[in-house]
Amino acid sequence: MLNDEQLELQQLARDFAEAELRPYTAIWDEQRSLDDSVFEKLAESGFLGMMIPEEHGGLGFELATYLTVLEELAWGDAAVALSVAIHNGPVAELVRRHGSDGQKSDWLPRMATGEVLGAFALSEPESGSDASSISTTAHFDGYEWVLDGTKRWVTNGARAGLVVVFARTDEDGLSAFLVPTDVAGYMAGDQEKTLGMRASETVSVRLNGVRLPADAQVGEAGQGLRYALEVLDLGRIGIAMQATGIGRAAIEHAAGYALERQQFGRPIARFGALQAKLADAAQRVAGGRALAFQAGAVWSRQAEHGGRRGLDGVTAQAAIAKLAASEAASFASDEAIQIFGGYGYMRHYPVERLLRDAKGTEIYEGTNEIMRRVIAGEILREAGDENF
Ligand SMILES: Cc1cc2nc3c(=O)[nH]c(=O)nc-3n(C[C@H](O)[C@H](O)[C@H](O)COP(=O)(O)OP(=O)(O)OC[C@H]3O[C@@H](n4cnc5c(N)ncnc54)[C@H](O)[C@@H]3O)c2cc1C
Repeated sequence: MLNDEQLELQQLARDFAEAELRPYTAIWDEQRSLDDSVFEKLAESGFLGMMIPEEHGGLGFELATYLTVLEELAWGDAAVALSVAIHNGPVAELVRRHGSDGQKSDWLPRMATGEVLGAFALSEPESGSDASSISTTAHFDGYEWVLDGTKRWVTNGARAGLVVVFARTDEDGLSAFLVPTDVAGYMAGDQEKTLGMRASETVSVRLNGVRLPADAQVGEAGQGLRYALEVLDLGRIGIAMQATGIGRAAIEHAAGYALERQQFGRPIARFGALQAKLADAAQRVAGGRALAFQAGAVWSRQAEHGGRRGLDGVTAQAAIAKLAASEAASFASDEAIQIFGGYGYMRHYPVERLLRDAKGTEIYEGTNEIMRRVIAGEILREAGDENF
């Protein structure tokens, strides 16, 4: 249950989405980019500082409040929500959790105001689900770190001012680095031509002898993979909420259309077959939302007391939420197309875009096969097999 303050913020976010996102979402999809002005508006409204602590200039929202806002932004435009979720989620959380005092005071206030947008660069051309296999290297030459490698599909990768880069350090394993994008050797590639999330900036990043000061490494050497997976728990809960916003938008569009469209002398909303589609979609989307809030509650508890493992731990709960909510979004937008009939298949109507966007939520921040693997792994570990 949301409290009064959360309900007020939900309304604010809904009004923002209605006025600043909805009218432009089809245009942004077509032009394959977001307007710069939307980032200024997000910053003015504080949406880029939601998860940044107040002591660093952010709003320091409780997780449930942040998730509520994220759903509304995704309802307005899924690409905007993804950008906001990566910035506030894995990037800000990694700096907040593992950054030194200097790193926090250097980056978090600028992230909170929106002066700096964050990006998260883990995936590589040959390393996706198996993040432990990345080949980007970070070598310390006695004075500075030198990073070389290629990162793939980095959301916000060209617009960002800060990218968290995961790289293999000589003998330690993987480590995390805070890379300012104006450093020499950081090169963002062209926007990928994607199925959905077309307005979201998805680019390759080449790190060509990027030199960073000794204090650019975050936390302990060799802990990069652990840090990445830890903050991806939060990221996945955010993606679950992004998917929920997409699913809800699909249901609303379908319901509106079903009331207007007449066949056999009555609105198609009168046909039980279509009512069942709306009901099934609503049930699944509501389930995904509830699981995201549940995972969020576990995350908030775990942030204070530790304990990621087990089926009730945050890693499994985040995977369950992302799995359920992303599949719900795909289901709801697919059924919405069906309710629109032939018009649903046309680019002129919004529901085909929602299906394309929803599909992305089944892939990024860990595919749904990996979500199932994570969940099953925790079940089997609890059943006694320590290999998981
Ligand atoms: C729009 C978009 C934005 C993205 N943004 C970012 C970003 O900001 N930062 C970032 O680092 N990455 C980002 N990614 C990358 C994304 O996280 C990866 O695409 C995803 O983790 C899968 O990796 P892969 O594409 O290499 O697929 P692969 O790992 O090659 O997987 C291919 C197939 O094999 C399956 N598979 C792999 N391993 C297993 C297994 N053990 N068991 C069962 N099935 C398995 C997968 O589920 C999938 O179906 C983005 C991707 C997209 C599409």
